[in-house]
Amino acid sequence: MSDQTGIEWTDATWNPVTGCTKVSPGCKNCYAERLALRLRAMGNPRYRNGFAVTLHPDQITLPLRWRQPRRIFVNSMSDLFHEAVPDDFIYKVFEVMAQADWHVFQVLTKGPVINKVSNFSLVVDIMTTHEAGRSAAAEVRLGLADVGRADAPPDGGE
Ligand code: SF4
Repeated sequence: MSDQTGIEWTDATWNPVTGCTKVSPGCKNCYAERLALRLRAMGNPRYRNGFAVTLHPDQITLPLRWRQPRRIFVNSMSDLFHEAVPDDFIYKVFEVMAQADWHVFQVLTKGPVINKVSNFSLVVDIMTTHEAGRSAAAEVRLGLADVGRADAPPDGGE
């Protein structure tokens, strides 16, 4: 939940969900887990559950308040398609991405393929039915970091 990041390929991070579960060898050195545990130790209330999946509904509309266009890494501290994240929550996140079409959103996942199939159907539905989603300016990049794919971009991992 920051508009400044040390990650060279993005300008800001947006975390409507925090916490995750290790699902592949690529998760071994997950920086998100280390950071979440550190933030909990520092008393940050967002990380009161440590690295357990936690929804932050109050963060969903954050990109709408950022007027300057940015590349926004969605869920740098989690995986939006984690099985514990309800579909209607994912739907709301993608609705905000469709509305805030002056940004570029970067969504990476290592989620199980079976979940991805249903959730990407949901995403396609949102992007094709939402008025802003039909705009050429609405650019949502989906990084499909398939489990075990050597060339997959990292999300919370290293
Ligand atoms: S955030 Fe990414 S790297 Fe970390 S445990 Fe989740 S899927 Fe694995």
